[in-house]
Amino acid sequence: MSARHEADTATTHRVLILGAGYAGTAAAIQCAARVGQRQDVEVTLVNAQERFTERLRLHMAATGQQLAELTVPELLKGTGARFVRGWVTAVDADARTVRIDDDRVLHYDTLVYGLGSVADTAAVPGVEDHAYTLNSAQDAEMLADRLARLGSGTVVVGGSGLTGVESAAEIAERHPELDVVLLGRYEPGAAMNAKARAYLQGALDRLGVRVLSGVEVVKVLPGAVEQAGGETIGADVVLWTSGTRVSPLAAAAGLTVDGHGRIATDAALRSVSHPEVYAVGDAAAIRQGYGVMHGTCQGGMPTGVHAAVSIVRSLEGRPPKPFRFGYYHTPVSLGRHDAVVQFTRPDDSPRRLHLTGRTAAWYKETVTASPWPTYGRMRKMPVSGAFWPRGGRFTRSGEAL
Ligand SMILES: Cc1cc2nc3c(=O)[nH]c(=O)nc-3n(C[C@H](O)[C@H](O)[C@H](O)COP(=O)(O)OP(=O)(O)OC[C@H]3O[C@@H](n4cnc5c(N)ncnc54)[C@H](O)[C@@H]3O)c2cc1C
Repeated sequence: MSARHEADTATTHRVLILGAGYAGTAAAIQCAARVGQRQDVEVTLVNAQERFTERLRLHMAATGQQLAELTVPELLKGTGARFVRGWVTAVDADARTVRIDDDRVLHYDTLVYGLGSVADTAAVPGVEDHAYTLNSAQDAEMLADRLARLGSGTVVVGGSGLTGVESAAEIAERHPELDVVLLGRYEPGAAMNAKARAYLQGALDRLGVRVLSGVEVVKVLPGAVEQAGGETIGADVVLWTSGTRVSPLAAAAGLTVDGHGRIATDAALRSVSHPEVYAVGDAAAIRQGYGVMHGTCQGGMPTGVHAAVSIVRSLEGRPPKPFRFGYYHTPVSLGRHDAVVQFTRPDDSPRRLHLTGRTAAWYKETVTASPWPTYGRMRKMPVSGAFWPRGGRFTRSGEAL
């Protein structure tokens, strides 16, 4: 136990961070690095597993590609932050405690809630029982195992958003023996400019992915997917990527949440109902001038950094600053050798500029690989993690704190 953890708990400020995803890990590293050798601040990061889940690569894991062994306790070594492995089962926002699955109770003075999101398996009957997801590394590995044993047959990817596109492309490239069908309400790449979208659709076609757009899936059955109108499509395997949902823990704790269960935050990323709770990443409903941010890694890491900076400012008696973020790109992999990168305005609308082909694949890989080295740099130089586009006029709301 470090000297910091031996300090008197009555005088120690306990910062408890839930979820070692892209956002929570950024918050933990930043907080620990910024409080430095202060004995009166304790930083603890709780996560379901020691291994860092590179969600951005789960479609690769789902086709049997080995991901790097990145462990969170290793990353935190020497920072003064403590790691607790456990599944969070409850938050008591009045008592300021968190319960984990082995019945341990952790106390906090400041909570950072970063439990992320998962595919929405509840919206369509049968998904929970008959479809695979990319919610965790284990889920991806289970799918990889199934695909490797299939030999021939049809894989239906439900959901034509970017995760669905990346997954369908990856499966088609790695398993040319399988028929891959991408089903969704919208055409793939719907949010891109016309040229980028056409390139993306052409690449799916070259990989042999059959795209069915304008489709409403109403049920997933053993061996088939049923569309509105009753028509069914045979499926040996269904991968569900459509929609996301968040843990019900925040709502159950009485924190104010939006219609999707995400914690409603003020401009500094504090819960509007419980200002000692910060919400980051996919689990937070963060309003900017252009609307509520949608879950991404590009926006999630800055939220973690900002929450940590705000916590340290508060500990020093300084007010937190408003969080501002503008999107800048949408990189989409199309197998291992092709990709599209759509550059965007801060509100995520597409610009004319986009990259395709090998240059785009290199760009996408560089972006995907960047979080872990970024955390490493932040340990020594926290300010290195504080650069992201603030969104200019798109986020200048003038909200005072
Ligand atoms: C296949 C795929 C590809 C993607 N590609 C991109 C991309 O190219 N670019 C992009 O910006 N975004 C991409 N995303 C979205 C991106 O991964 C998420 O927006 C991002 O991971 C959100 O970060 P987070 O820290 O909020 O949550 P997460 O990264 O999901 O981390 C949450 C953490 O909390 C843990 N946790 C959850 N519940 C509990 C609990 N009760 N107890 C303990 N621990 C718990 C989880 O195990 C996890 O470690 C992709 C997602 C997928 C699935």
